[in-house]
Amino acid sequence: MSLITLGILGGGQLGSMLSVAAKGLNIKTVIFCDDDDAPAKNFCDEFIYAEYDDNNKIYDFAKKVNFITYEFENIPYETLNELNKLKPVLPKPSVNRLIQHRIAEKDFVNKLNIRTTRYVLVENQDDLLPLDDFLPGILKTTTMGYDGKGQYPINNKLDIKNLNIDFKKDYILEKTVKLKKEISVIITRFRNNKYEIYEPIENIHKDQILKYSKIPADINQKLYNQSKEWAIMIAEELKYIGTLCVEYFIDRNDNLYVNEIAPRVHNSGHLTINAYNISQFENHIRAVCSLEQINLKKISNAEMINIIGDEIIYYRQNPKLNNNQFFFDYQKKDIKEKRKMGHLTTLK
Ligand code: ADP
Ligand code: MG
Repeated sequence: MSLITLGILGGGQLGSMLSVAAKGLNIKTVIFCDDDDAPAKNFCDEFIYAEYDDNNKIYDFAKKVNFITYEFENIPYETLNELNKLKPVLPKPSVNRLIQHRIAEKDFVNKLNIRTTRYVLVENQDDLLPLDDFLPGILKTTTMGYDGKGQYPINNKLDIKNLNIDFKKDYILEKTVKLKKEISVIITRFRNNKYEIYEPIENIHKDQILKYSKIPADINQKLYNQSKEWAIMIAEELKYIGTLCVEYFIDRNDNLYVNEIAPRVHNSGHLTINAYNISQFENHIRAVCSLEQINLKKISNAEMINIIGDEIIYYRQNPKLNNNQFFFDYQKKDIKEKRKMGHLTTLK
């Protein structure tokens, strides 16, 4: 019999992998999601399908669980805040509110004297005209973006003229960094200022979607140290509890920039399931549910490939895998272009 029940808001693949890790710790999971076909339904102990502003259902959910976390940063702040009055929500709702807004997030990072891309708030199309200094740039919605959704590259005045968006929402224009590499650092912070941190992971994106991750990242010692230090500073300043990921850019002169922070487990950390003694998912659950902290040990170098769209068909036909290869099928009902359908980790 399990003594702890963890509530998870959001039912995507991250919710599935959190549920699997919870099971390994004898913790029950209840997932609350606004999509009745959510893949995590196949992995959790109980699934509640409702809108995030359905107060009755939110109350039912809170009654069933001891702790609440989320696998997706675009959960409305009001929902997290209401839930937090009933059961501990971790990471804190205020952390999520800060990070789900690209401008508040970057302001916060810069206040720590940590470099980000240059950026400016854009409220309408005309605001863009005097912003030559930020071009080439990428216009992004300030909230709700993921996997490159809500992003528009802008190279010149013609691109500004041809933009076809209504500006009902606010946008951020970010100067494009001439990328040499992208890396991420995943850290899990526990109560009492303790943390476990994974080594930097090197990431390759295709069409703004993560395609490939590997450890070790091919970077110099200075970047290795700085990326870990910055992740620690960010987690400390937020008084964060749980797993957090900092995505970084490295430019052609080996300058490091924070791209964004994910207040949750992260796609680039899927390889930690097989490459470390404790995965990012298990660590998140340990931190949120106040379980014992265990020293991280790396078991192996690794690489992970995201299986996107109809690439999954091949993997579902049981291709021969070696015993150092681990295939995860997210069991999503529909195959869609640009949709993350599964991943394959290979230990090296
Ligand atoms: P999302 O929330 O969709 O992950 P990101 O801001 O992380 O949005 O952008 C997705 C990817 O697009 C990045 O990982 C990077 O490859 C590319 N990208 C985004 N912003 C910039 C930028 N300012 N300079 C260079 N590349 C960028
Ligand atoms: Mg990103």
